[in-house]
Parts: sequence; structure tokens; C-alpha cells
Amino acid sequence: MFLPEDYSPSERFLAPLPQAGTRGTVGSEKHPQNTYTGGNMSIILASRTNVYSGSPLERVGEKREDEAWIQAALQHPDSLFVPVWRARSLIRGGEEGSKPEAVFITGEAAKELHMAGGPWSFLGLREGRAVFAIDVSHVDDPLPLLPTDVARFVDLRNVGSAVGNEDASILAHARGLMHWRVKHRFCGVCGAPCEAKTAGHMMLCTGCETQHFPRSDPAVIMLIHQGDRALLGHSTRFPNAKMYSTLAGFVEPGETLEEAVRREVMEEVGVSVGNVFYHSSQPWPFPANIMLGFYGEALSEEITIDPTELKDAQWFTRDQMRNCDAHGFQLPRLDSIARRLIEDWLTAG
Ligand SMILES: [Zn+2]
Repeated sequence: MFLPEDYSPSERFLAPLPQAGTRGTVGSEKHPQNTYTGGNMSIILASRTNVYSGSPLERVGEKREDEAWIQAALQHPDSLFVPVWRARSLIRGGEEGSKPEAVFITGEAAKELHMAGGPWSFLGLREGRAVFAIDVSHVDDPLPLLPTDVARFVDLRNVGSAVGNEDASILAHARGLMHWRVKHRFCGVCGAPCEAKTAGHMMLCTGCETQHFPRSDPAVIMLIHQGDRALLGHSTRFPNAKMYSTLAGFVEPGETLEEAVRREVMEEVGVSVGNVFYHSSQPWPFPANIMLGFYGEALSEEITIDPTELKDAQWFTRDQMRNCDAHGFQLPRLDSIARRLIEDWLTAG
């Protein structure tokens, strides 16, 4: 069986594979390059990495246990600090059309930042330099802690797709880990304070000694399609009145990802889903999710929306999606996996 190199085992484990003895191909006259066809099925492949993934950091988990090494790295003038202030990331530029850049703090300024005493975690190595995330939310005005040319703290979602995947993934990593540090100061078992261990990657309860670890809550997000049409919804929570996006929801205890896809679609729009194929995943630290992207084949067409979740849901053709402005709606934001699912499905048709 042939699979492209970047279609790694971890990404294909959820998709049903062709029967033994059959042979698949990637791309053909009938099916473009982003589909894998084998037997009587066709899988849409992820055409590139998602925003907030593709980190250049080596996580070097073993260094987290080495307290002397971590203390030396915290003091080293070449170490990089990624500050997070009240869930916001430090950015330079981005105004009046200029390209926004992630800002990492080094040298004396980094020392001052660390001395401010906020929660911190070791993220990993970037070209041999230690990278730390540090939360300064307890300071009302963090700007005096920073070099004078540094601009502002912004919501990463506003600049994520513009800063480039490598830096965006580091900012997302820092934001997600600092959210966990700030929200898990006390033990969920006995209520006693917790102490940070292993360079900020474990919170140890000072009362009952329970170990607490960083968590990402899994959410499924799915493009449901039938022939040349796909199902998009307008959530009651969308601030943009014209935006239609793929359906999504949290995975519940005791169900598989595929079951979560089918359950969420049935609950939200009353449509029955058959085959479910995995596409790709995306870290989504807003505040603590991992988005798991799927395609699902609809077995029914009639839409009955759940009005507490959705204001509207419709079947859109590829042509309508390609010309969404002319049809009076907008597609989801560029940094989202929802947009990737839509774009890869458009390419495949
Ligand atoms: Zn406890």
C-alpha cells in the first residue's frame, strides 16, 4: 500500500484503510493531488501544517528534571523568555499593514521579567538556546518590565496567521501552558496549594501529594459533506453575523472521536453521518483545546437545528463557497482548522 511520506502513521490511524490486496494511489486525473484513493474510498489529505503547529522547539523533556541545568538556563543571558500577560502575547508591529512579529525577551530584561516572580515553564530549546514561558498577569502594567522598543500584548488569534507558523506555535505553546499554570494553583482533590515541579510541567499538591499535569481538552471539528455540497452552520456564539463554519463539539467521556463527530452533528443539525475520516489536528490554546479535524459523509439531508447552539445551518455547494461574498456569507478565520477543512475539500472537488 502506498502512502505519501508526510501522511504519518499517527495521522492515518483513524481512517479505515483499503482492504488487503488492494492498491491505492495519490492523485489522478479524476482525483487531484490532495486525495488518497484506494478501493472504493477517497480520503482528503492535509495539504500543509495548521497554524499554531510546526514548532521549531526541541522539547528535551529530560532537562525538566535537571534543576541545576534549569536554574543555569534561567540566568543565562542568551535564554529566551516568552511573556504572557492575561492570556495575551507580546507582539511588535502589525499596525497599518506591517507584519506582526513575536517578541522574545533576552539578557538583562529577561532577568527583570523572571524576578517579577510570575509562574514560568521551560518550553524547550531553539537552536540550542533555552526558551521559557513566563506569566506576568499579576502585574497591572507589565510594560516597565520590558525593553522600551517592545510594543504591546495582543490576543494571539488576531495575529496568529500573520506571524508565521514557527513563532505562532511557540506563542500558542506559551499561552496554553501559562493558562494551565495560572488556573491550577490549588489541588482539585483536597483544595491545598500546589507547588510547581519539573520546570513548570507538573503541579504537586502540598496536602495530599497528588500530581497534576497540563491538559488539552479534545474537541472534534468536522466538515460534513454529500456529493458537491457541505454543511456549514452559523453558531449563536459567532460575533460575525455572516460567518458560516464547520460544526464542532467536545469529546465526552466514554465515546470515540468518530462517535463524538456523529453525536454532535445529530444533536446540532439532526443529520445522520456514516463514514468518518481523519484529516489533521490543531493545538487551540484558547484556552486549552486540541482540535481534531474530520470529514464525515452525510447519510441524510434534512436539517433540524438545535436553536441553543445554532442560528442557522445550510448545505452549500463548492461554487457557493468559492464565491461566498457574492452569496452573502463568509468563511471562518484563516488560522482555523475549519478553514483548512473547507479549503482542502474545495481543492478535492
Ligand atoms: Zn491535594
